[in-house]
Amino acid sequence: MPELPEVEVTRIGLADRLRGARVRSVHVGSPLRWPLGVSARTLHDLEIGELSRRGKYLWMPLSGRARKGGLLWHLGMSGSLMLHERVPPPRGRHDHFELVSSAGTLRLTDPRRFGAVLWSDALDSDPARRLLAGLGAEPFDPSLTARALHDGCKRRRTSIKAALLAGDIVVGAGNIYACEALFRAGIDPRTRCHRLSLPRCERLLQALREVLSEAVTLGGSTLRNFRDANGGAGEFQINARVYGREGQQCLRCRTPVRRVVQAQRSTFFCPHCQAR
Ligand SMILES: [Zn+2]
Repeated sequence: MPELPEVEVTRIGLADRLRGARVRSVHVGSPLRWPLGVSARTLHDLEIGELSRRGKYLWMPLSGRARKGGLLWHLGMSGSLMLHERVPPPRGRHDHFELVSSAGTLRLTDPRRFGAVLWSDALDSDPARRLLAGLGAEPFDPSLTARALHDGCKRRRTSIKAALLAGDIVVGAGNIYACEALFRAGIDPRTRCHRLSLPRCERLLQALREVLSEAVTLGGSTLRNFRDANGGAGEFQINARVYGREGQQCLRCRTPVRRVVQAQRSTFFCPHCQAR
């Protein structure tokens, strides 16, 4: 599933190439999670602005004489975006949305169709506002301090792992990244949020930022290997220290890594290095 780093890498791979391009046509294929919300024809000739990201959503501002707004993209469970600068290959059965622009053909491939592309008049108007409303802070936003994370944790009695996955305090910690950040911070994933001290929140925030920026860097290098730069090149995984290593020795202390299930997801941790 594309996580925040994959979406950020997609943004980095596309932003420069799409900025200032004009929409020539839009092809809507099989229904995605939500409908586009406007007639595809009304997007013709609009100019693409600076791509931005909020959580796992990409925002593509579009403007022209007749209208102004943008498209909110989500890759769902299995989506990826590719910009074909030359003539694209024929559409495959999983290519469900296509935006042809003066910079090339941007194609959403999404076998499971949980992804979406939808029009919104602005980021702070519906439907974008409604979809983004429940999102926690951006992990790299400087206004997210350890104290802000601590305040968010104090109000919750769930485990820290479940809170990270829920994404309502801070976004971006998908299952792998949450496990890895908690390992690096030395926090047992079953620890109740409200019991985390400020110094531990500080370590957690730092660990989460490290893990996510490693993934973005790794994804960026994957990206440079493709001529037709593929956003969301699928999965470029960080070098996991605990994730997927059940029963193997902890790289720090050699205790066997344990696996438990939390919120229907596997959690991997070292019972010795990670304390409650
Ligand atoms: Zn250990």
